[in-house]
Amino acid sequence: MNPTLAQRSLASVWHPCTQMKLHEAAPPIAIAHAQGPWLIDVDGKRYLDGVSSWWVNLFGHCHPHIQAALIDQLGRLDHVMLAGFTHAPVVELSERLAALTGLGHAFYGSDGASATEIALKMSAHYWRNSGKPEKCRFVGLADGYHGETVGALAVTDIAIFREAYAPLLRLAATVVSPDARTALPGESALDVALRCAAVLEAWLAKHHNETAALIVEPLVQCAAGMVMYDPEYLRRARALCDRYQVHLVVDEIATGFGRSGTMFAHQQAGIRPDFICLSKGLTGGTLPLSAVLTTDAVYQAFFDDQVARGFLHSHSYTGNPLACRAALATLEIFEQQDVLARNVELAASLSEALAPLSQHPRVRHARQLGMIWAWDVDTTLPHFARRYHHHAMALGLLLRPIGHTIYAMPPYVLDDEAQAWLAQGALAALEATLAEEATLAEEAAP
Ligand SMILES: *Cc1c(COP(=O)(O)O)cnc(C)c1O
Repeated sequence: MNPTLAQRSLASVWHPCTQMKLHEAAPPIAIAHAQGPWLIDVDGKRYLDGVSSWWVNLFGHCHPHIQAALIDQLGRLDHVMLAGFTHAPVVELSERLAALTGLGHAFYGSDGASATEIALKMSAHYWRNSGKPEKCRFVGLADGYHGETVGALAVTDIAIFREAYAPLLRLAATVVSPDARTALPGESALDVALRCAAVLEAWLAKHHNETAALIVEPLVQCAAGMVMYDPEYLRRARALCDRYQVHLVVDEIATGFGRSGTMFAHQQAGIRPDFICLSKGLTGGTLPLSAVLTTDAVYQAFFDDQVARGFLHSHSYTGNPLACRAALATLEIFEQQDVLARNVELAASLSEALAPLSQHPRVRHARQLGMIWAWDVDTTLPHFARRYHHHAMALGLLLRPIGHTIYAMPPYVLDDEAQAWLAQGALAALEATLAEEATLAEEAAP
């Protein structure tokens, strides 16, 4: 018998974020093709992509508009180095991102983590060029996530990703997260934001001289389990960063491109950051691309006769024309189809379908922002996330809880069937997982 694709994968591929030994019991699913929100495996079984394939896929898979743009671009220019050269896709994309955000001078990388690295390096180098080289440390929010390369991991506060590599890192400081779930009796989400902003204020008052930047995920700390917080925190953070001369970096890698309901999450707070990191949805989930946008003031601090005062950072594929073209096609879909307005309706209808899950007696803190839903499950079941994922997959639904938090972050293209599939599957997978918990409890009973 010929080995299956999954078997060959286990022999040849080291899969990400995976204890490979667990695949002995549950091999990876080999996907043959995909259409819209559906992934279809080599046996023809389909799965609804409830997490947009790690939050990247905005308009479903194999979207014809992005596909056509890529085919056209492949016939013109596949790649050229961006040092000393330029091309239409990178110029047009940079102009469009500037128009959308009010920040410019787009600098490109390929992954979210490289965008984090670029923003941190630019911030510290800005202070060095401005005669304040001691401002070279960073502060982030507790449970923040900004990627997993060594520099990005230093501002990522998630123990399981960081513990083994702690000796390699120059760890950043963290301040308490304004997580709305941490409200004390009688406190609102706004009260939590104000209380946590006061902690940030005290921290900055003490450490601003050594601090280059505060980095935050605006409104939703996704990797922490869709932790949501009040926009007032961002307004306070902006004011404090101004007062203490610290850059504000907003990491919109997960929240950008309509995910939070607005084009970018920080726009709900009405603030202007010093740096914006973008990736994930930027190309609609087709090709790796990231970008960092910044202010004229930052840009000007590098503009000099001395080469060493420039930002001498590069990646081989910086500004790749194919990836930029996919991003342009993605932005065209936003414009042509009035996606943000349509998502308001889609989110309302999906929230209604998901109401039985939100009201489930074992669910706590049901929450939603834009096209993100999350539910904390009150359970003692070991490996809840893994077991829930397994049940959901059996039902043809891709969901991967984080800890005890189930979440959905679907592509923006769910028809009635797909909405019902997601809502019913998410609830049925919870019931199936809780049934396992009940069985285990029975077995444990004397
Ligand atoms: C995913 C993510 C990153 C890292 O992006 P990669 O492309 O996985 O390196 C950084 N920040 C946030 C907020 C993310 O969600």
